[in-house]
Amino acid sequence: MPEFLIPYNFVRTTEISTGQKKSPGIMHDKFSGYSGKIVCQLTPKTRTIIAENPGFGSAHELSQICDNDGKPFLPSSSLKGMFRSVAEAVANGCYLLFDKKYHYKHINHPIDVDVSRKIRGIASSPCSDINHLCICCRLFGMVGKQDDVQAEGKAIFGGKVSIGDATTTKDDYLEGSYNNKLVVKGIMTPKPHHDLFYEMNGLIRGRKFYYHRRDNELKAILNGDVGEFDKSFVKWIKAEALFQFTVNFSNLEKDELGLLLYALELEEKKVNNEKVGMYHKIGMAKAQGFGSCEIKITRLELMDNPQSRYQNFGTGITDALNKKLDFQKHFFQSYFGKDWIQKDALPNIFDLQRIMSLNGYQCHNMHHPEQTWFGTDEGRKPLPTIEDVFLNRNMLIE
Ligand SMILES: [Zn+2]
Repeated sequence: MPEFLIPYNFVRTTEISTGQKKSPGIMHDKFSGYSGKIVCQLTPKTRTIIAENPGFGSAHELSQICDNDGKPFLPSSSLKGMFRSVAEAVANGCYLLFDKKYHYKHINHPIDVDVSRKIRGIASSPCSDINHLCICCRLFGMVGKQDDVQAEGKAIFGGKVSIGDATTTKDDYLEGSYNNKLVVKGIMTPKPHHDLFYEMNGLIRGRKFYYHRRDNELKAILNGDVGEFDKSFVKWIKAEALFQFTVNFSNLEKDELGLLLYALELEEKKVNNEKVGMYHKIGMAKAQGFGSCEIKITRLELMDNPQSRYQNFGTGITDALNKKLDFQKHFFQSYFGKDWIQKDALPNIFDLQRIMSLNGYQCHNMHHPEQTWFGTDEGRKPLPTIEDVFLNRNMLIE
C-alpha cells in the first residue's frame, strides 16, 4: 500500500526565551526607532488565485481579482495575513488569528471544539492590551476582544507596518477563460476535531502550513465536472508572473525590523545538497498546490530621524539594502540568543525551513485522506511531523 501525505503540517512552537516579552505598541518618543520603506518583488512559482468572493460550500465559478484596467493584483490584506502568520511562527507570537472555538457541521451532527487550553506559551493568550503586545501585534496590529479589555481605548492598535497591494503592469499574466476553466478538487474547510492531526500529547501541534508543489504537479483539470467540494476557476495568475509591492514602516525597534525583513523574504537553504528557496503561500487552493510564491527584497530605505534630516539638509533617506542580513541576524540574537547558524536548530525554524522549501524530499503522493480511511483502524497513524517527513519515517499508509 502506497505512502501518502496530508497536504499540510504543523510548525512547532518554540520554548519561551527572554526576548519574547510583551511591550507597548507605541514608544514614548514617537520619533525613535527605524522608519522607511521596503520594496519587494513577488513571483508566483505555481498558479495562483485570489478571488473576490471565495464563497466556500457551494460550487461556482471564481475569477482572479483585477483592477479597472483588467490587470491582476494581490490585495494587501492577503499579503498582510500571509506575512503575519509567518512572523507568528518565527517569533512565537500570540495566536491572534487562530479561532480557538470551532463549530463544524459534520455529515451527521454538529461538532463543537474548544482548544484554548491546548495552546502553550506566550501564544496561549492573544494580546488584548496595547501596552502589552507581542512582537507580531506590534508590527501588524491587533483588535482585542471586547470582553478581554478593562479600559476603553486599549483594545485596538493599528500596527507599525502598512503593506500595499502587489501590482503588475501586465495583463497577460492571466490565464483561462469561460471556455477553458480549471476545476480544482476538494477545497475544504479545516477540521480540527480530527485530533490525530491537530493534536499531539494533548496540545495543539503548532501552526498550520501547506507543503509546496511544482506547478506541473498541481491537482487541477481543465473543464472537468464540479463536485461538492470542488471549485471552478475561470481566470488565474500563471506561474512566473511578476508583481511588486511596497511595505512602509515607522518607529520600529531593531529586532522588529529584523523579524519583518525575515518574514518577508525568508532565506535560501541547502537541503540534501539541493539549493532551494523558502517560498510563501497565498490565495486559494493551497492544499492543491496553488499560490506558492517567491519574494525578493529589492530596496530597503531608512529615513533619517527628523532632527538630523533638518541639520544635514540631505535627502533624509539612506539605502540600507546591504544591512538587511545584519537586521535579520540581530532579531535572532536578541530574541532567541542564537546566531544565524544556531537559529537553524530552533524547532520552529527547523520546521519552517523544510515545509516552506520546494525540493525533492517532499512526497509527491499528497492528498486529503478518503472518508473511508478515517473509518478504519488498520494502518492508521497520527500525522507524521515535519521532521518525520524529512527523515522519511512514520508515513501514512493508504
Ligand atoms: Zn499578539
